Amino acid sequence: MPAECANNVPGDLANLVSRLIMEKFSELTDGMTSAYARRKVLAGIVMTTGESTEGAQVICVTTGTKSINGEYMSDKGFAVNDCHAEIISRRSLLRFLYTELEKHLSDNSEVKNSSIFERREEQGGYKLKDNVFFHLYISTAPCGDSRIFSPHEKVTEEPGDRHPNRNSRGQLRTKIESGEGTIPVSSQITQTWDGILEGGRLLTMSCSDKIARWNVLGVQGKKMMINVSVINCVLACT
Ligand SMILES: [Zn+2]
Repeated sequence: MPAECANNVPGDLANLVSRLIMEKFSELTDGMTSAYARRKVLAGIVMTTGESTEGAQVICVTTGTKSINGEYMSDKGFAVNDCHAEIISRRSLLRFLYTELEKHLSDNSEVKNSSIFERREEQGGYKLKDNVFFHLYISTAPCGDSRIFSPHEKVTEEPGDRHPNRNSRGQLRTKIESGEGTIPVSSQITQTWDGILEGGRLLTMSCSDKIARWNVLGVQGKKMMINVSVINCVLACT
């Protein structure tokens, strides 16, 4: 599936995706008094099949703005390091993909055919069926470069970048431990497990940098190549 950027997403589709995510969040949290019913950043993924948006399906709705401090890391994999909403959305998508992969491998042909995956004959592995698309919605620009230099910046009469030489632009950034915001990462630092255990800062890539990586390598991790269109509220509403 070709990568799409937000600029290529038709407005109607962007509005539909944002509406479906917000409706699902309301459906899940209306009447809830728990802290989980509150949110700052809301993200989610919607799946569409074919050209039509009919039958668009919400795969996940997530919230979150924090990443953990190094002292809470688990060597058994029991802790989620990065809880920013869009990162949790990707984790949820992976879980959905594994479920669909299981369906594809089922002995029951009806279940197998209902899977969104099919086998890649020549290269091996699996791929999405041609008509399956995923759309990632984020209610704000992702932390890092996208948020600092966000579409909120007013367009002046001069086209293009008004600060092309600004040193802070286009740098890899890491999230603040247990807090919000990002800082440029130094190329001198090598992160090590024992270093973190001794109190070294845990470096977690900004969401802007992670999404940039997904756009090149796919969101799936390995074996399949899947890209999602990214929609955030700024673009969805214009
Ligand atoms: Zn983030």
